[in-house]
Amino acid sequence: MTTGISKGWLPDNERVKKNTAIMIIGAGIGGLTAALALQRAGFKVSVYEQAAELGEAGAGLTIAPNGMHVLNHLGLGKAMKTIAMTPRHGAVMHYKTGRVLVDIPRGDTQVEKYGAPYCQVHRADLHAALVDAVAANDPQCIHTAYTLTDFSDSGEAITADFENGVSVIADVLIGCDGIRSVVRSELFGKEEPRFTGYIAWRGMVPMANLPQELTGPDSAIWLGPGHFLTRYRVRNGALLNYVAVAACDGWQEEGWSVAAEVSEVVETFRDFEPNARRILEATPPDHCHKWGIFDRDPLPVWGHGRVTLLGDAAHPTSPFLGQGAVMAMEDALVLARSFELSESLATTLQRYEDARRERGAFVILESRSNLKLITECNPDTFGSDIHRNEESLGLADYDAVTVAI
Ligand SMILES: Cc1cc2nc3c(=O)[nH]c(=O)nc-3n(C[C@H](O)[C@H](O)[C@H](O)COP(=O)(O)OP(=O)(O)OC[C@H]3O[C@@H](n4cnc5c(N)ncnc54)[C@H](O)[C@@H]3O)c2cc1C
Repeated sequence: MTTGISKGWLPDNERVKKNTAIMIIGAGIGGLTAALALQRAGFKVSVYEQAAELGEAGAGLTIAPNGMHVLNHLGLGKAMKTIAMTPRHGAVMHYKTGRVLVDIPRGDTQVEKYGAPYCQVHRADLHAALVDAVAANDPQCIHTAYTLTDFSDSGEAITADFENGVSVIADVLIGCDGIRSVVRSELFGKEEPRFTGYIAWRGMVPMANLPQELTGPDSAIWLGPGHFLTRYRVRNGALLNYVAVAACDGWQEEGWSVAAEVSEVVETFRDFEPNARRILEATPPDHCHKWGIFDRDPLPVWGHGRVTLLGDAAHPTSPFLGQGAVMAMEDALVLARSFELSESLATTLQRYEDARRERGAFVILESRSNLKLITECNPDTFGSDIHRNEESLGLADYDAVTVAI
């Protein structure tokens, strides 16, 4: 890794006050959850987002109970009940026969075990619920068309410079700007993310285009040799979301996500059972996108002086445990709790990073090994003794609301 520019310092005795100016870069799920958690703790926050309009990709998200603890605590449990699905079961299935290899009880079982449900939601619906909640607390909080280009630290404050020519001063800067974080590069030097060797097609199929029997069990993953397909319903059951993952020599496309031909994914999964293929074939032409899957190695430290990182900016993980957004939510709540509990700004940021670094690193590394496990396994002999997920790894046991920090 290139050594980054050392930016600024933070006096040990600078106190945290309710009017400490907190600047968040990025209005993704991490940045918005952080804004909401800090607002609810009584702090003043401003969010700066590069996009001209707020929104999210047309894709699904699984929110395991460890993420739902955060959303429930922030008052979004009710919204989730109307926008999200709670599958009764998850299944790992054989790609050719559809035979259930592993049955995962979800639904009430998860609530009994963890005190919160396991949910599946359209990213855009969750994003909109977060935007509404943040804006209800402070209509001026979110600024769009603000692309951070650089920041500097005078020793007393941070000045952030944006592409639109505006500079903004704050006491603290939280980089929630995703896997290609400018804040992270400014702190630690520019470094390309690591291509996992896999790409994902993500599609949304209106349920009206599919026979109902295609969605039993509620949530499923078909395991095939070197490639796999997961599907679940979102938007109150109106849409079926899928993620189809396969090996690829490299990612030559411009950007992380590009529109894809439905025929490509159909061809790649031609060896899958008819029920799986029927879902892919039913994708409307403009509803399939392709993503290169990247991650980064864990960072030994997340911040410097008045600046820290959160979510994918801090610990960009591949999606093979479905925990990236959930980790960003946990970070957000722990950061807000740290602001509430600490006297000085230096202690706040240190307490937050100390509480979260190891877990962020664990998810990156475990997600990588899960990809290896599921792409190298033999579907004929796969079973619950081999299967790993957020439950078997103990990730679902964590509650960011109550964990000691
Ligand atoms: C195929 C796939 C499936 C996934 N499935 C799941 C799942 O089921 N469950 C789960 O928990 N996670 C999942 N993830 C991971 C999840 O999507 C990410 O971990 C999560 O979106 C990270 O949120 P974030 O807010 O940290 O970053 P992002 O969502 O990347 O948000 C960053 C925000 O910062 C803005 N930004 C970037 N640069 C700048 C700048 N210079 N100035 C201002 N703004 C800027 C961006 O526009 C964006 O709005 C999946 C990921 C992939 C690729």
